[in-house]
Amino acid sequence: MSDLLKFESEHVWHPYASMQNPPPVYAVKSASGVLLNFEDGRTVIDGMASWWCAIHGYNVPALNTAIEAQLGNMAHVMFGGLTHKPAAALAKLLLSIVPQDMQHVFFADSGSVSVEVAIKMALQHWQAQGIREKSKLLALKSAYHGDTFGAMAVCDPISGMHHMFADVLPKHYFSDVNIEAFTSQIKAHHHELAAVIVEPMVQGAGGMQFYSPEFLQQIRALCHQYDVLLIVDEIATGFGRTGKLFACEHANIQPDIMCVGKALTGGYMSLAATLCSAKVCAGIHADGAGILMHGPTFMANPLACSVALASLQLLLDSPWQQRVCDIALQLSNDLAVCRQHPSVADVRVFGAIGVIEMKAPVDVKKVQQCLIEQGVWLRPFGKLIYTMPPFIISPENLRTITSAMRKALSFA
Ligand SMILES: *Cc1c(COP(=O)(O)O)cnc(C)c1O
Repeated sequence: MSDLLKFESEHVWHPYASMQNPPPVYAVKSASGVLLNFEDGRTVIDGMASWWCAIHGYNVPALNTAIEAQLGNMAHVMFGGLTHKPAAALAKLLLSIVPQDMQHVFFADSGSVSVEVAIKMALQHWQAQGIREKSKLLALKSAYHGDTFGAMAVCDPISGMHHMFADVLPKHYFSDVNIEAFTSQIKAHHHELAAVIVEPMVQGAGGMQFYSPEFLQQIRALCHQYDVLLIVDEIATGFGRTGKLFACEHANIQPDIMCVGKALTGGYMSLAATLCSAKVCAGIHADGAGILMHGPTFMANPLACSVALASLQLLLDSPWQQRVCDIALQLSNDLAVCRQHPSVADVRVFGAIGVIEMKAPVDVKKVQQCLIEQGVWLRPFGKLIYTMPPFIISPENLRTITSAMRKALSFA
């Protein structure tokens, strides 16, 4: 195993990492419940839910069974000209729980791709109606919408992680996260705007910031007023994380286009979806053909659709709202004392998301080492030490995470 890990470290890229001077990586042998079992025998509590995904934890019997059952039928078939029960059943369940204006679904293979598809839908909607000047997007500063080129172009262009590509990306408009700035941007540019794209309520990878439901309501109203489509990117927030099934429910708004991913399969497989309203669909068909120009090879993969269906059923049958509410309360109580620490700038909690923002960037390697010594897996970035645990975490295990976060402050 150690030979293999040495080979891995010399040949395999990791996310946002150097190949020649790689940061430490920890080999996981197995995972179950909220625990990750390392190859070296150590066990850690997962406070990241594998980047928002593993809401039910790991090695979940109902999800294992769903995949195994589908495997006996077929692992995959192309979606061009073929269809299958897992995709149809998932679409039906998904459309019954998202905001009611959502009527059509496009299955994509990752969150970033679902954002690409959302942008294409918005552009085709106007183009098919002969309104060619509506070809730009308006996004928020500190936004994160993914790593592919179309998605990168709507991430924060200056402080965001993709600023090095600024010269080759299409140019869109960006607003500060407040209503005055947003109003003036949409007023100034609406003739050119196909759509506004936002992460509802929570800006995730761009800095773990929360904003008010009133702001989201005002964005919705202004998009109506100026005839601009609204895309909500619920890839991180979807499926209960913020205390509502979807974050746009906090503002009680209807998007025109919506992206979901991450927790869609309970963290089992890569699957995402772009949903749209009947109005957007009709716009795309205004040219008479209405052909949406996208079609991933692994579109609506049956294994992924089956496990997504089982994960949604498991979520809806569970007391998820109470669980998220309890996690939020405990995070608020346990992390409150961190506000007194001289290096801490802010402590904030929203749903099952707990964030400590430091005054300066943290020493990720040191902090992570300290956390692991206390049996906790987190992945700090920038000035942030944060957690978004699986919903099934026990109060005792969550206490271990928050205590470890408090201790790690001295290494930050
Ligand atoms: C993670 C994320 C994406 C990208 O999803 P991938 O599956 O990593 O491509 C897009 N938008 C938001 C808000 C995300 O959190």
